[in-house]
Amino acid sequence: MHAFPSAMPQRFRHHAATLAVVALTACASPPSTTPPPAAATPATALAAGLPPDDLSPQQGFARWVAGFMESARAAGIDDATLHLAFDDAHYVPRAVTSDRAQPEFTRATWDYVDLIVSPNRVQRGQQKLAEVQVALDAATAQYGVPQATIVAIWGMESDYGANFGDIPAIDALATLGFEGRREAWAKQQLMAALKILQSGDIDRAHMIGSWAGAMGQTQFIPSAFLQFAVDADGDGKRDIWGSMPDVTASTANFLARSGWQTGQPWGVEVKLPEGFDAGRADDGVRQDSAHWAAEGVQPLDGGALPDLPDGAIFLPAGARGPAFLVGANFRTLLRYNNSTSYALAVSLLAQRIAGGAGVQGAWPRDLQPLSRDQLKALQSALNDKGFGAGAADGQVGPTTRQALRNWQRSQGLAADGFPTLDQLTKLQTP
Ligand code: CA
Repeated sequence: MHAFPSAMPQRFRHHAATLAVVALTACASPPSTTPPPAAATPATALAAGLPPDDLSPQQGFARWVAGFMESARAAGIDDATLHLAFDDAHYVPRAVTSDRAQPEFTRATWDYVDLIVSPNRVQRGQQKLAEVQVALDAATAQYGVPQATIVAIWGMESDYGANFGDIPAIDALATLGFEGRREAWAKQQLMAALKILQSGDIDRAHMIGSWAGAMGQTQFIPSAFLQFAVDADGDGKRDIWGSMPDVTASTANFLARSGWQTGQPWGVEVKLPEGFDAGRADDGVRQDSAHWAAEGVQPLDGGALPDLPDGAIFLPAGARGPAFLVGANFRTLLRYNNSTSYALAVSLLAQRIAGGAGVQGAWPRDLQPLSRDQLKALQSALNDKGFGAGAADGQVGPTTRQALRNWQRSQGLAADGFPTLDQLTKLQTP
């Protein structure tokens, strides 16, 4: 991940648990544990609401599965595995309805952080950390990822294992593949799932997870499993469902191999100097802590800034909200889920579990998150005024953000690229 996809949540993806995880779409490479955004145009007749020929969904599903089995066989999956996987495959309507659910309003970043970094979740995280201390000691020693970070991801992804989903991954992925909005992605993940089955790490009935195919305690999609899961307890199986040594080691391995810098903090809450140009609060503006300190950026709780070689200023709620200096490990968390709100929530949860502070600065709680339609209107208005916000799709990516910053500058406003209702109203005034 080379750039902040956005500083504000755009839509929520529902994981196995009741947690809503903010996912962002404007990124160059797909996140590693979550599916890509669905295509706008359905690729199958079912997705368009039409019966494919005269088949029921179940019949159409069976036909899709039969076709997929041929390509899996050609790719080297053996017949025994194919029988295990597909003899009793089920179409899962819940996967389709969940996939299509697109909330009109996104949750404000502060509400999301409040939800995730709740006193209860912090306290249970501390208890869980003690419970699996031996496994965490080993994972941290081997991979250099702090224990609290591993526990925070666990708490975020499955509420510490309380709910990681009960849908067989094979069924969920076959359903999404058949449904068609993300068929290519689902086929790739289904193939990876078959390789896991064939390897004998887990049997079909226990290879369970969310409707989106994210599996086990820390919600690995199958390709992430193949790439990062490890057998830490030495029983010959990579078990991210039932073995905490395997869960903690696999999660730490994911982060370690995605750029985690041992010994570096994720970042720190900071106080910006008077007159700081909010346009410089951008992941593209990176410099070491000494340079930020020279500009007058200070840690909120005094002392010196932690040493971050490539720190960037992050304003998750715009210029009026709290400010953070974030580094490589914050960006690594985006590889787990490509959402700055997710990375911030995991970072803060880990910090609190480790006994540190929560957010000190005041969130601008009077601001309402803009709806998708309002964001589309904002983009249209920016385009009308010649600021080049790109397609009015209701998703704030880098182009829209830059356009908004440019318009804000033209108005003498802080160029934070954070959309507000006031600004939308002003933009719509001729
Ligand atoms: Ca194992």
